[in-house]
Amino acid sequence: AKARGGASCHFFSEQMNERLQRRMGLEAALRNAIATGELELHYQPQVSVTDGRVVGAEALLRWRHDGRFIPPDHFIPVAEETGMIHAIGDWVLDTAIAQAARWRATYASPPRLAINLSPRQFWHSGLARGIIQRLQNHDLPPECIELEITESVLIQPEGPAIGELRVLRQHGLHLALDDFGTGYSSLSYLRNLPVNRLKIDKSFIFPLAGSSTDNPEDAAAIVRAIIAMAHSLSLSVVAEGVETAAHLHTLQNMGCDLYQGYLLSPALPAGQFADRFLEPN
Ligand code: C2E
Ligand code: CA
Ligand code: CA
Ligand code: CA
Repeated sequence: AKARGGASCHFFSEQMNERLQRRMGLEAALRNAIATGELELHYQPQVSVTDGRVVGAEALLRWRHDGRFIPPDHFIPVAEETGMIHAIGDWVLDTAIAQAARWRATYASPPRLAINLSPRQFWHSGLARGIIQRLQNHDLPPECIELEITESVLIQPEGPAIGELRVLRQHGLHLALDDFGTGYSSLSYLRNLPVNRLKIDKSFIFPLAGSSTDNPEDAAAIVRAIIAMAHSLSLSVVAEGVETAAHLHTLQNMGCDLYQGYLLSPALPAGQFADRFLEPN
């Protein structure tokens, strides 16, 4: 038994060692990603449920490393733990706001551009000031930009996130609460958050129809309740993860405002997004 334990212990530590090395490799590569131009933003359309018009776009970060894309769910947590999220977040803001300004100069009715913010970005003071400064540099009206935050900004130990959010909102930027329903006590936080919009997480949309083993009636009851509550608070609702016509049909019946999902399109490079979804002036 002892030999076996020793062997499995050895095996385990080798596995940990491998994980650690992979993680350190990832970290080192990520440190260079901005300088080497390996980061890109792709854009996913946000569509009106009632008339199918593309009224928004969400900027989603892509890291092309060694010829393949590393998903944001893999590297953003690393960026957050190491503090690199500040440099990456600044790059995202610079790139997205410049893109929104180009769209506004070139296309007839450019979509509002939604940008994801990590809760960590609020740990540095001056986030709101920096964003407003960028808008002024590009002469971009604040309502052209929506910021997506998660309710975890409120349980962050540091930084007056709520004050920064109020400044941004008062300045005219739009704010959306992302991943709604997946976090903590959403309802009590909601009253204090100066947001315009809720995004229903895709984990609530998938079971509405199709392959899931969950009861679609229960899923529908939850989504319907979220939409009713949002509307009674004068918030609009975006559903993400709309993959099928059945999902969309259900959301139509529920009075959902906007959707995003593979049914229409995944996130695309800026050029492809413009070719497919934007009308020249
Ligand atoms: P999120 O903000 O909740 O973004 C929605 C995710 O759902 C995106 O994954 C999007 O590509 C994916 N998605 C959209 N429609 C569908 C669909 O119909 N089916 C399925 N299965 N998925 C769909 P992505 O791009 O891999 O991003 C993952 C997460 O990484 C995002 O979740 C967000 O939390 C984070 N992220 C992405 N870009 C940024 C960024 O610029 N800054 C920060 N801080 N986080 C980002
Ligand atoms: Ca988002
Ligand atoms: Ca989500
Ligand atoms: Ca998320």
